[in-house]
Amino acid sequence: MSETCIVVGASHAAAQLAPSLRQEGWQGRILVIGEEPHIPYHRPPLSKALLAGEKALDDILIRPPALYEKQAVEFKLGARVDTLNRAHKTLGLSNGEIFSYDKLAICTGSRVRTVSLPGTQLAGVHYLRNIADVEKIRRDIAAGRNAVIVGGGYIGLETAAVLNKLGMSVTVLEMAPRVLARVTAPAVSEFYTRVHSDEGVQIRTGVAVSGFEGDSRVRRVVCADGSGFDADLVVIGVGIVPNVELAQAAGLEVDNGIVVDAFCRTADADIVAAGDCSNHPSALYQRRLRLESVPNATEQGKVAAASLRGREKPYAALPWFWSDQYDLKLQIAGLNEGYDQVVIRGDRNAGRSFVAFYLQQGRLIAADCVNRPQEFMLSKRLIAEGTALDPERLADDSLAPKLLLSPG
Ligand SMILES: Cc1cc2nc3c(=O)[nH]c(=O)nc-3n(C[C@H](O)[C@H](O)[C@H](O)COP(=O)(O)OP(=O)(O)OC[C@H]3O[C@@H](n4cnc5c(N)ncnc54)[C@H](O)[C@@H]3O)c2cc1C
Repeated sequence: MSETCIVVGASHAAAQLAPSLRQEGWQGRILVIGEEPHIPYHRPPLSKALLAGEKALDDILIRPPALYEKQAVEFKLGARVDTLNRAHKTLGLSNGEIFSYDKLAICTGSRVRTVSLPGTQLAGVHYLRNIADVEKIRRDIAAGRNAVIVGGGYIGLETAAVLNKLGMSVTVLEMAPRVLARVTAPAVSEFYTRVHSDEGVQIRTGVAVSGFEGDSRVRRVVCADGSGFDADLVVIGVGIVPNVELAQAAGLEVDNGIVVDAFCRTADADIVAAGDCSNHPSALYQRRLRLESVPNATEQGKVAAASLRGREKPYAALPWFWSDQYDLKLQIAGLNEGYDQVVIRGDRNAGRSFVAFYLQQGRLIAADCVNRPQEFMLSKRLIAEGTALDPERLADDSLAPKLLLSPG
């Protein structure tokens, strides 16, 4: 009698986990249950090429349908899992259907953080997490009209860049004193502020949005300091929250994500969790992490698949991220939390290519590389090696990047 592995969430992690599970030799049934009506697709283009209308859903599928067919990975889409009964090893769907599992992978990702302000129900006010959101936003894009982005994080700034390119007059409102405050050094925030204003996007920091006004459609965004901004389209991008409720209600430990070990295993021997929804121990950073990135979801998908087959493949990959805005390709290696020095390589004040190296006691812990793929690759290596570096050499842009590897 063959066993069944169910994956909850037709997600980035699922798109890796299911085929990896086959490669690991799983002979039984693999069923992915997903709330969205689509097989797994790449989410990063939602605020980039898909929003810009340069790509369609078929262009951003993580794997073609034929691959899942070949590997006998089944999907049940448009179906939300509402309950998990660990004692009976069953899942309950919102339509009342019950599914039994032998092994379970929770890959439920995250959802947008919503704001409770007057007027969020007005037409024209959007969040951005999935294809359906992009379709709605695209219907409201109109050249020459006003767009207001609430939140100056990566998704907010990427959205601003696209709407600006599509001819809208764009304003970004950020509550913190600078954009990207949670994730980068002031030097990097200043760079992005400059580029956006050069491109014609207005960035206002230190402003708290207090509501949205209009008749049935949004017409204006109002702020706590009394200021207001005309708006025909609003996109709110103020972060995400992990989808942990299914696991939590079933008694699994949750602490800023579903708590897993280095092998993506929960305390239940038959349940793994992977992607945005999970919180794992990092040997490199010596603390627990919940990462919100595609490389993390993919890597954890592989690790979780091995665990489901009883093999220990520790998750040791260096965290990395990216963001595309205009012609700027930002690649981020490592996590900068705890840095005590920032070294800039290249001209961040005038050019469109530079690196911010984040050091902690002379060792590289992270790097923001703007249009600098070579330095990005080197940074990954330098962070993993953990050797002490000379800040003056790092800053010397006349030195070929590969020379940064030698101690000088
Ligand atoms: C606009 C945007 C731009 C981004 N840009 C980048 C980028 O440039 N680089 C980068 O690295 N990352 C980026 N990210 C983040 C990246 O997409 C996420 O980290 C990644 O998608 C996480 O994958 P996941 O496997 O955890 O889950 P997700 O891909 O989020 O998928 C989770 C799926 O589970 C479903 N689900 C949840 N609960 C249930 C349930 N109970 N029953 C059934 N289904 C359920 C959800 O509907 C969803 O389809 C971006 C994200 C967004 C939204």
